[in-house]
Amino acid sequence: AETGQAVGFKQNGTLALARNSDRLVELKRSATIAKSFGIEANIIGPTQAQDLYPAIDPNHVAGALFIADDGQLNPVDAIMALFAGARKCGARVFENTLAERLQRCSSGLYHVTTPVGVIACEKLVLCCGLWTPILAAQLGVRVPLHACEHMYVVTEPLDLAVPTLPVLRDCDGYTYIKEDAGKLLVGSFEPRGKPLAIDKLPAEQHFIELPEDWEHFELPYLKAMEIIPALADVGIARFMNGPESFTPDSLFMLGEAPGAANCFVAAGFNSEGFEMGAGAGRALAEWIIQGEPTMDLADVDIARYHPFQANSKYLHERAGESLGAIYHMHWPNRQHESARPVRKSPLHDRLAARNACFGETAGWERAMWFAPPGEVPKDVYSHHWPNWYQHTAEECRAARAGVIVLDQSSFGKTLIQGNDACAFLQHLCPGDVDVPVGKLIYTPLLNHQGGIETDITVDRLAEDRYMIVSSAATHSRDLAWIEKNLDRQQQVAVTDITSAYSVLSVQGPRSRDLLARISDADLANAAFPFLTSQEISIGYALAIAKRLTFIGELGWELHIPSEFAQGAFDTLLEAGQEFDLRLAGYHALEHLRCERAYREFGLDLAPDDTPFEAGLGFSVKMDKPGGFIGHDALVPQRGKVLNKRLVMFKLADPEAVLFHDELIRLDGDIVGYISSGAYGFTLGHAVGMGYVHHPDGVTKELVENGQFEIEIACERYPAEASLRAFYDPTGERVKG
Ligand SMILES: Cc1cc2nc3c(=O)[nH]c(=O)nc-3n(C[C@H](O)[C@H](O)[C@H](O)COP(=O)(O)OP(=O)(O)OC[C@H]3O[C@@H](n4cnc5c(N)ncnc54)[C@H](O)[C@@H]3O)c2cc1C
Repeated sequence: AETGQAVGFKQNGTLALARNSDRLVELKRSATIAKSFGIEANIIGPTQAQDLYPAIDPNHVAGALFIADDGQLNPVDAIMALFAGARKCGARVFENTLAERLQRCSSGLYHVTTPVGVIACEKLVLCCGLWTPILAAQLGVRVPLHACEHMYVVTEPLDLAVPTLPVLRDCDGYTYIKEDAGKLLVGSFEPRGKPLAIDKLPAEQHFIELPEDWEHFELPYLKAMEIIPALADVGIARFMNGPESFTPDSLFMLGEAPGAANCFVAAGFNSEGFEMGAGAGRALAEWIIQGEPTMDLADVDIARYHPFQANSKYLHERAGESLGAIYHMHWPNRQHESARPVRKSPLHDRLAARNACFGETAGWERAMWFAPPGEVPKDVYSHHWPNWYQHTAEECRAARAGVIVLDQSSFGKTLIQGNDACAFLQHLCPGDVDVPVGKLIYTPLLNHQGGIETDITVDRLAEDRYMIVSSAATHSRDLAWIEKNLDRQQQVAVTDITSAYSVLSVQGPRSRDLLARISDADLANAAFPFLTSQEISIGYALAIAKRLTFIGELGWELHIPSEFAQGAFDTLLEAGQEFDLRLAGYHALEHLRCERAYREFGLDLAPDDTPFEAGLGFSVKMDKPGGFIGHDALVPQRGKVLNKRLVMFKLADPEAVLFHDELIRLDGDIVGYISSGAYGFTLGHAVGMGYVHHPDGVTKELVENGQFEIEIACERYPAEASLRAFYDPTGERVKG
């Protein structure tokens, strides 16, 4: 080994079991994703699974996923190796030394007070497991994690427990089972974990063992006995119960803490910290050295969290679900069940009264779809055709042929104002924002490698005032990015005005006719062109109306001061009767935007995709005076044939569905994966998009003439490919 310290690695593989057909589809989808990372993953039947693990009862197994290259490490040896490696590189290690106090000095250095003295650091990494929030609070940094009890037992010695046994995962039985020195270690991720408040933990911050809890562990252990009947005849040598940190979205957190430059966090590992730790450590080291992540880490960026997520009641209620989420069915569009509702738009109760089925994003309750009268609005998930599709299809039809209204109050809204607002935004945005008042600009924001950090719309409200609109999910991260890039010498004030405005999005070919009934504004093309905004009346309210669409139709987003939102909504609905106005939810938005190939950050746009690769070259003004963040990195790509491009796909089979992470094959070879997809109800086929990689360049000819297939859950489906949207490729419909 590089460090001279053996880590006890054995490559015994992992065997994930499916007890039912739904889980088998999930495993097949995982096998498909694994291939895109070059990992060999094989789906096998119950008998083959028993060949690999003779003790299992195949009657409980519908199929399995075997990854031969997986293995196990000895945790103590592995940590000693990491220590040894760090020391070799010049690190000093202080064991059993408490960081008692953290301070940020006026010089920008951090002072860490310990019993052996004060350590001054230019860069500080907070990685104290579940104690991280306590330390972070001393610096005003929020770290939303919460402890849960995590339990495993170790049996007495068993003949069947030989070292070559793969690690067994039985998600439907909530357990994992590993060979451990001739015994079996049975651990669980039960459906609802047991949250543990940090003040209930013993004071000493070393290795903590919590009391046995057989009542809680009984269900997983009974399930383990179903799969390995021999467990019924063996005693338990040890019950281990330890506290571990869980996060609201079951993903760990990494990166520079918003508002605390040079203070980094690596915490909240959801009981997978040993597995993830080395990779997370490397990614963080690169981030610190380069000043920016060297890969797409948006999913785990600590800045993704919203302030409310540090609320202790919220965390306590969510933590148990986060533990269960490690093994629950990872249905497409699955919603959290705990710690809800947190944030409600002023229209929430009106939507609920009209049978909305809500989903949660950034704490907001958002209508996902509307059930017809008499039907209970409840999600029934599926890997194929969930129960809401038929209703979503109706909402999509209304959007394409008539008019819909969607409550998008959860949008993040930010005011940027001051004498230097324009100069600041010109530097931040690749788009040209020095435009006449009332003009809207769609622009990505880029990092220094030219990668997309987010995409926003910018509305010039006045010479020295702009309103920025971000998606609800990315709003906090966007704000952190904006504030990180502020030049303190400039006169610019950044204010989060999300709560001040509700948003009604009125979309569809009849949206103009409907709005004309309730507003005295002139909404004709000449008076109100696409990508402009104006203050208009809506009933008694005054709204900032933005002529925009995320579905590819004529439409307006009405930003209405929140206290006027209910009145405006009632006015709209009453007038809408004449137009068969339909309430629509976020599922419809997703299907419609995929048909029109509008990209979404977090799916189709990421910090390692450039605007040219994403087909968003139109949004980048390379020659604007003064440049912008990321400009220089884009220069080599300008006007070139690229080896990576976002391509649209339409499946030939009208029955098949796409969600995300399906494989893209060109002439049989893997060339990428689907970043997002949905059934196109207007097209009658599933559509999706994803980056295609090709060493000779992804040209129009390659895209249009190549033999593409999309592999879904290990099955291949022929697909048509295009660099443009399959629905209204020339964008005629938005022109109204
Ligand atoms: C029973 C159990 C089984 C598990 N099994 C697995 C597994 O099989 N695979 C896997 O990947 N993960 C597993 N995990 C999870 C894994 O152990 C954790 O995710 C991982 O240890 C988290 O690493 P960490 O560095 O974030 O926190 P920790 O490992 O908790 O380390 C934080 C350290 O910071 C120290 N500290 C706290 N406050 C201070 C302070 N003020 N000053 C100085 N030091 C401080 C603590 O003493 C501690 O040593 C398991 C967890 C449990 C409880």
